[in-house]
Amino acid sequence: MPVPSLTVRGVSRNYEKRSAVANATLTLQAGRITCLLGPSGCGKSTLLRLIAGLEPVDDGEIEIGGTLMSARGINVPPENRSIGLVFQDFALFPHLSVEDNMGFGLKTLSPSERQERVTTLSAQFHLETLAGKWPHTLSGGEQQRVAIARALARSPSVLLLDEPFSGLDGHLRANVRKSVLADLRATGTAVLIVTHDPEEAMLIADELALMADGRILQTGSPQECYLRPVSIDAARLLGEATVLPVRISGGVAHTPFGGIPAPDMPDGQAKAMIRSEALRLDEAGVLAEVLEVRFGGAFQIVTLASQDVVITAHMTGSLVPEAGTKVNVSLNPARTVLYPN
Ligand code: ADP
Repeated sequence: MPVPSLTVRGVSRNYEKRSAVANATLTLQAGRITCLLGPSGCGKSTLLRLIAGLEPVDDGEIEIGGTLMSARGINVPPENRSIGLVFQDFALFPHLSVEDNMGFGLKTLSPSERQERVTTLSAQFHLETLAGKWPHTLSGGEQQRVAIARALARSPSVLLLDEPFSGLDGHLRANVRKSVLADLRATGTAVLIVTHDPEEAMLIADELALMADGRILQTGSPQECYLRPVSIDAARLLGEATVLPVRISGGVAHTPFGGIPAPDMPDGQAKAMIRSEALRLDEAGVLAEVLEVRFGGAFQIVTLASQDVVITAHMTGSLVPEAGTKVNVSLNPARTVLYPN
């Protein structure tokens, strides 16, 4: 394994006895995009500031490219950390042209070297035609490209982006995101993107880091985190889930909506985390009453009851259940996860 671009090891940060980041551990590799996902207030921006060196850590260590940057009593300043930082509002210098924004951090280079670097960045981020323009004349997507190019001017090991797509309009957002991410990947930098949007995180991340209450609950590919969340809290960060008590006997978990294999679980009580897409119509399944059906666009939102337990399912397919009828359903074991009590 190459030396990680960034290692965050057991890092904590407290504000007046309140813990904002607690024992967080995270590794970033060059050329990979990691999304730090969690609800508002969970500590994402604080962790970003700690990595950037804008604040000291109370405990733990941060290494960039294998060099210690933060520890108790150690805080290498941001400008000596080999990081690039892109803020949510892009924070371009309003009185500098696009070109001068990009060249701002390159004061130590000769004018010709600086121009060469700016030209390379302009080509990488498709800014050639905007060189002389003022930031306020650019679209949101263009401003973002300039902000990213500026942050990458000194070829940092790690690029940090705080909610980079949240300020962009809905219809533009998907297109801007796609092209910016392609350009970012091409640079080979380790990228950490903060977001509170689970769909966005799963779509763009090579690695996810799930955060809640100052803690990193799980890291892994989007598939691993979504299909095999380490806890119910982790599961809820990535999408709707119903949690039901289940009885395990003889390697099967029994729920009111059918059984699923539980080969490694001892007999007794446990919990099942059921994704909204786990329920499916199945002639061999158990009988459930359809309480309500609503149109959800790509799927039907179906409320079902069985043995006095109610669940909301997202169902696709041409067979649409009707409210007031009974249907046979089963659980897709790939979309249901069991947890010991
Ligand atoms: P997120 O980015 O996930 O929304 P933050 O990192 O901004 O979360 O905040 C985490 C917690 O730390 C919140 O409870 C917030 O109120 C608190 N916090 C953040 N910055 C400060 C600060 N400078 N002083 C005191 N409390 C802070």
